[in-house]
Amino acid sequence: MSVTENLKEVERRVEEALRRAGRPAGSVTVLAVSKTKPVEMIRELLDAGHLDFGENYVQELKEKADALPEARFHMIGHLQRNKVKTTVGRAVMIHSVDSVRLAEEISKESVKKGLVSEILLEINGGNEESKFGFDFSEAEEACRQISPLPGVHVAGLMCVAPYVEDPEKNRPIFRKMFQLAVDIANKNIDNISMKVLSMGMTGDFETAVEEGATIVRVGTAVFGERNYRRA
Ligand SMILES: *Cc1c(COP(=O)(O)O)cnc(C)c1O
Repeated sequence: MSVTENLKEVERRVEEALRRAGRPAGSVTVLAVSKTKPVEMIRELLDAGHLDFGENYVQELKEKADALPEARFHMIGHLQRNKVKTTVGRAVMIHSVDSVRLAEEISKESVKKGLVSEILLEINGGNEESKFGFDFSEAEEACRQISPLPGVHVAGLMCVAPYVEDPEKNRPIFRKMFQLAVDIANKNIDNISMKVLSMGMTGDFETAVEEGATIVRVGTAVFGERNYRRA
């Protein structure tokens, strides 16, 4: 199957999950996660009309965004503060904001460039030591600290759930993420909206959609297995 056919199949499964959950058709964006994959593969999807892509590494994001100005690249990988300059203005959304200091850096750089960056707060859904993100209990306070910053707008939450064989294992995390977004939205914090819920990957995106995801980040099911030696 071609990457275009793979993406169509992922989109079909997303629509089925939406139907099962009683959610509106077309209410989820599939980010095609193109990390380590060549520009030609991305161009094939662009030619087929797909615009949204996810990248993890800043240098790769820069090269691809500069080569393909019509594509919309989302930064989904861990972002160091010294790479913020390269990222702001290239990424349409930064999903992986895992500290207030990082949000402050994005704010400064965005103001300098005269733009407003859309950001998501990364939540450490699985509570694994190796993963980045705020604890569930820290998210509201982080929103309150980020709220007054110019040049950034918090659009919602993101999480990277643990890798599991059985996607049902991650359902409680996705459910908790949805509830957290509702709770924060109800606080009506200035400059904080909770419209975006970025969760679900190749192994568990249908479960994430059933639990309220508005963006799923799918790499392997679209582009095939990754070979990290090439990256
Ligand atoms: C690589 C990656 C994905 C895509 O993973 P697949 O399992 O290949 O779909 C999604 N989100 C993040 C943050 C990633 O690093």
